[in-house]
Amino acid sequence: MTTDTPGAAGTRPPRSHGRIAVRPTAQPRDLMPDTPDLAGVWEARVITLFPEAFPGTLGLSLTGRALAEGRWKLTPIDLRPFGEGRHRTVDDTPAGGGPGMVLRADVVARALDTAAQGTPPDRAQWPVLYLSPRGTPFTQATARRLSQARGLTLLCGRFEGVDQRVLDARGFEELSLGDFVLSGGEIAAQAVIDAALRLRPGILGNAASAVEESFTNGLLEHPQFTRPAVWEGRAIPDVLTSGDHGAVARWRRAQAEALTRDRRPDLWADLWADLSGPGKPTD
Ligand code: SAH
Repeated sequence: MTTDTPGAAGTRPPRSHGRIAVRPTAQPRDLMPDTPDLAGVWEARVITLFPEAFPGTLGLSLTGRALAEGRWKLTPIDLRPFGEGRHRTVDDTPAGGGPGMVLRADVVARALDTAAQGTPPDRAQWPVLYLSPRGTPFTQATARRLSQARGLTLLCGRFEGVDQRVLDARGFEELSLGDFVLSGGEIAAQAVIDAALRLRPGILGNAASAVEESFTNGLLEHPQFTRPAVWEGRAIPDVLTSGDHGAVARWRRAQAEALTRDRRPDLWADLWADLSGPGKPTD
């Protein structure tokens, strides 16, 4: 158990990893230009058996600096203290038999109820997610929805997963990173937090960089190039060094469309299915 996590009785409120204490209601707004949500900064609460896995990669680079500066908040909640008995047991064998262990409904519920303290009960304002290979595939659209919430709570599974009853009873939304199986939800949670967080204003250095990239307009992004102009005999496409911004935009759009058509026929079909949409292919 880390010092950052609530005790088993849930008497201590969860605390952030951020170094700077954030007092959103006491601070004048002009001191928080990057956190327009007056109710508080965007917060991710993560229920996990491995709180030491956080902030992990989220502590690096732009998300790490924003975390250190209190522009978002990360609260890992150790599942272990909510376990049963002297050994704080969190799991048991699967009903019906089979290999592995399953996280207990009562233990997860106690952790979730503590994690819910001070959060809005409305799931639209504060989504409660279980990372699971059985979940709805995580997409950029979901990342955008999560970025617009006030915060979110994520449950990381381990072993064979979580007792279904607590997922049903507490209205967890199940989210999958993709059609593969991870050992635990921690990496998936970091991926979801990162994808949502970078869509928040004031997290990325260059706000425009989130506007043009892959999936935002239903297309994969065009290829990128930088110096040197020639590398191992390969030159940067002439149009990119022509200075003709219109030609550059047309080339990029054509490349994005060709890539999407070849690599992701599913995305390409979605674009054509919505012919009135802004992402309609150019021809
Ligand atoms: N027995 C389960 C897999 C459990 S893997 C099954 O077959 O469905 C252990 C934990 O890793 C899961 O509880 C989940 O939290 C996490 N996990 C594994 N794969 C994942 C994926 N594709 N997306 C999100 N979380 C995943």
